[in-house]
Amino acid sequence: MEFSQKTVAIIGGGAAGFFAAIACAEALPEARVILIEKSAKPLAKVRVSGGGRCNVTHHCFEPSELVTRYPRGHRELRGPFHRFQPQDTVDWFSRHGVELKTECDGRMFPVTDDSETIVSCLMEAAEEAGVELWTQCAVENICAEGGTYVLALAQRDDLRADALLLATGGTRGGHALAEDLGHSIVPTVPSLFTFNIPDSPLLDLAGVAVESATVALPTAKLSETGPLLLTHWGFSGPAILKLSAWGARHLHDCAYRTSVHINWLGDMTVDACADALRHYQAEHTRRQMETICPFNLPKRLWQRLIEVAGLTPTKRWYLESQPNLRRLAQRLTDDVYRISGKTTYKEEFVTCGGIALKEVDLRTMQSKLHPGLFFAGEILDIDGVTGGFNFQNAWTSGWVAGHAIADSLL
Ligand SMILES: Cc1cc2nc3c(=O)[nH]c(=O)nc-3n(C[C@H](O)[C@H](O)[C@H](O)COP(=O)(O)OP(=O)(O)OC[C@H]3O[C@@H](n4cnc5c(N)ncnc54)[C@H](O)[C@@H]3O)c2cc1C
Repeated sequence: MEFSQKTVAIIGGGAAGFFAAIACAEALPEARVILIEKSAKPLAKVRVSGGGRCNVTHHCFEPSELVTRYPRGHRELRGPFHRFQPQDTVDWFSRHGVELKTECDGRMFPVTDDSETIVSCLMEAAEEAGVELWTQCAVENICAEGGTYVLALAQRDDLRADALLLATGGTRGGHALAEDLGHSIVPTVPSLFTFNIPDSPLLDLAGVAVESATVALPTAKLSETGPLLLTHWGFSGPAILKLSAWGARHLHDCAYRTSVHINWLGDMTVDACADALRHYQAEHTRRQMETICPFNLPKRLWQRLIEVAGLTPTKRWYLESQPNLRRLAQRLTDDVYRISGKTTYKEEFVTCGGIALKEVDLRTMQSKLHPGLFFAGEILDIDGVTGGFNFQNAWTSGWVAGHAIADSLL
């Protein structure tokens, strides 16, 4: 019987496309695996990621905990993470010659602190596995024809593929290709951004950081606790970025105009704070309020919060009235600011929305509408908070899809 070589087309030379192509080519060496990338340089986002260091994944090896970092996809990723999770990512890169290290907040980077290490590793692994890489080749149209897919390509002849993976990221072009094949797209909005607070009295404190604050969007019933950074346009830092991810759609719908409530003391209640201030007053009667802070707050912020609460920072503790101390406690535990717009965080962002997950079999990443059509990465309606979780989605879904494609062609 004559052997006919199967062709696998993978559209999108980003993290997910590369991982899927390598997995498929390693699992099914007899197939022709073609990775099609529209730009001249594949893996562009990997290159610039993590400030040029590439935050590859997160030190979180328990799938049930890992899924809690995905505002979109937390239910659906449970199964895929049981098959390929951060420990597998660490092992995969180690097998391919790249060691990862963990920083104190759990983020994992290559030990070289250089994203080029990850780019070279993926490029070499793809070449070694026999993946054909076609760059400067945009896929313009896809036609499903009798169990195969015909791809119309810019600057090349049409390509017929036995299996097709769409890994085009969060951009409109890839979503349009999927839509043409009958898939629904959950409307896309940006995720992971910082808050603009033009009226904030704290703008000149840019650079001041609080170790653990709680930030809340009461209109969306959302709150997050973590480090908070004051910037010259408003608020940033992990707590704000996480809140922006969980509140991405809500914030978009209110045109990024709503109130954010800040508890500068984490989870301390107003009563507990007022008590602490009273005790402090009794102990430090003759000291000026601004010189000594009862809480773990940077001194400049403490002075400013006394001021904005309407008190006098240079006043001695014993001279301050009880109603004033109560007002300060209120400000420290429920400080309200008006958000008016957003700003990108170090150019990092992800897309909330994408291919509707109900139309995808998450065990294989295969379309439920078209056998032989697969998806991986940010094109799906999946996104995580900052910290390496978005690449982990790309590695996991790429790996699962690559193996499922190989299995389907055996
Ligand atoms: C500046 C920045 C920094 C980031 N840093 C981190 C980080 O440190 N850690 C982390 O976990 N996440 C990070 N992210 C998020 C992460 O980069 C993405 O979630 C991830 O790259 C998604 O991978 P992907 O393969 O799905 O899509 P992409 O990386 O977007 O790749 C899609 C590819 O498809 C190509 N393409 C699109 N349409 C077509 C077409 N029609 N034909 C052919 N090719 C096409 C594109 O050119 C692109 O190369 C960062 C994002 C940004 C923007």
